[in-house]
Order: sequence, then C-alpha cells, then structure tokens
Amino acid sequence: MLNTQLRGVLEGMPKAELHIHIEGSLEPELIFALAARNNVALPYASVEDLRAAYAFTDLQSFLDIYYAGASVLLHEQDFYDMTAAYLKRAEQDNVRHTEIFFDPQTHTARGVPVKDVIDGIHRACQDSPVSATLILSFLRHLSEEDAFAVLEEALPYRDKYIGIGLDSSERGNPPEKFARVFARCKELGFRLVAHAGEEGPPAYIETALDVLKVERIDHGVRCLEDPALVERLAREQMALTVCPLSNVKLCVFPEMAQHNLLELLDAGVKVTINSDDPAYFGGYMNDNFIATFEALPLGLSHAQRLARNGFEAAFLPEAQKQQLLAEVDAYFASLAF
Ligand SMILES: [Zn+2]
Repeated sequence: MLNTQLRGVLEGMPKAELHIHIEGSLEPELIFALAARNNVALPYASVEDLRAAYAFTDLQSFLDIYYAGASVLLHEQDFYDMTAAYLKRAEQDNVRHTEIFFDPQTHTARGVPVKDVIDGIHRACQDSPVSATLILSFLRHLSEEDAFAVLEEALPYRDKYIGIGLDSSERGNPPEKFARVFARCKELGFRLVAHAGEEGPPAYIETALDVLKVERIDHGVRCLEDPALVERLAREQMALTVCPLSNVKLCVFPEMAQHNLLELLDAGVKVTINSDDPAYFGGYMNDNFIATFEALPLGLSHAQRLARNGFEAAFLPEAQKQQLLAEVDAYFASLAF
C-alpha cells in the first residue's frame, strides 16, 4: 500500500502528459449523451453494458470497441465537448501541459470534415487553462496513400497542430510502411513521434528512429529485449511515453508488479508516465502514477525524475520548458517530511 504522503506528492506534482488519444478519453456517459444528441445507434444497451465490454485481451480487441465509441462524434461541438471533458480532468490531476493525439482518419472515413475535427479539439484547448498542443496521428493499419490524403486535407489547418504521430494496430504494420509520408512531414517542419515497441518488436523502435526520424517513441517498452537498443535510447536521451495502466489492461504485462518501468529508469532511459486512452484503461494521469508507485519500489526521487522527464521531453519553447521544470523543482523542494 502506498503511503499517504507519497500519494499526495504524486497527486499534487506538476505533470506533462505526452501520450493521450483524445478519442480514448471518451467516457461511456459522454458516448451515450452524444449518441442521443446525434441519433446514433450503439450496439450496447446501457453505460454499464459498454463499460462491461472493456475487458480487453490485446490491442485489437480494444481498438474494435474504441472505433465503435468514436462513431458518436459527428459535429465540431462533439469534438469540443470531448476535449473539454479531458482537459478538465487533466487540470484536476495537476497536468500543466499536454500534447494530445487525434486520429482524423477515424472521422473522415465516416464523412466528418477534418476541419470540424481540428476546430472542435483546438477550440477546447484554447478555452482551457492547461497548456495544450495537438499531434495529428495516422492510422497504421491503413495505407500510406491514405495517410498522404488526410495530410493533404489537414494542411490548411496546420497552425492548429504541431506534430505527426503513428498509432493503431502495430503488429504487421512496421514504421517503414510510412517512410515517405513521414519524410514529407519532416520537410513541412512538424515534430514527429510514433508508437513502437508496444506489441511490436524492438526492431520497430529502431526503424521509427532511423527511417521515420521520430523525436520520441510512444510506448517502447519492448526495447528491453535488445540491450544494445536500451543503451542507445539512454545515450541519445530518447524519451519513451510509457502508459502503465494501458500496458496492463492490454496484457503487454500480466500485472503492474511485472512492469519494466523501473528497469528502464535504472538503465538511464528517459521514461515518462502517461494515460494513453484513460476512459478505456482505468485511469487518468494520477491513477497511472499511483498504480505504478503502488506496484513497484519507487520513491520520491523517482517521482521528481518522472515529472521532470515529462517536461524535458515536451515539444515546448525552451523558456516555457525551463519555467515548468523550475516549478517541478520548487514543488519537491517545498516538501517537508
Ligand atoms: Zn497510444
């Protein structure tokens, strides 16, 4: 059991969230409210029914429900409401800065204009006291041609997102499948990230770095299977956006006590803690920190390290980054035990 002091420290410390899919923050209550507002029929009878379906066996079993949930999002206001709800929750968890993934292809495939998706999410970010930026993510189970098409559609609104990501079904969809579109995005000046080494092998982490030229790896926990890769990640101070509750819920690790986060930290890898799809995986930022610290032998110095890593790995102007890091250090310096 986590002692109450450490729990309080984790809850109160300033945090950056760098791995959150906004469609994965849709709570069942909001899914049902939006379904009613938009006259969308859901294959679940009630909020409880839907929540009961959240017993996933792997990434794909989750994605099937995730795409069903996203089907209620039709109008700009729906995207606004979803994002506003997440940001309110993030604020309660003392998240000072968040970099939010959105999947336009999940919506454009249903006829929703990409402008409505981006405008709704962006407007909610502007209305929130939490610093928030957006990362447009390509769905890797679709083709590179499809990614090029959505990029083209989204380019007129490029002042509203700062980066490009790659998510969805990893196995069988290696990073190099998207080499050309990522090269184009780099030319365009976007910050680049990709999911790699969650269910896919360590080799996907290497190709994400070497072929896609990403600046952060989302998940990346399977790097431990390749000691040379771990050494490289530590040497290059390449950040991993790790999502502990997600990893357990999707059976990447059988239970939290077996999560490799502490081994990664001990190896000098720049690990961060994030919520991934909080509505589906049992928790937001503070829930993730508390569950991880409850299961692993982590203490105050780890908490400070993890909080600092989040801001260090953020795509923020240097001055804002330094200010937030100073806030973290002041918070820890003020603790009296
Ligand atoms: Zn993710």
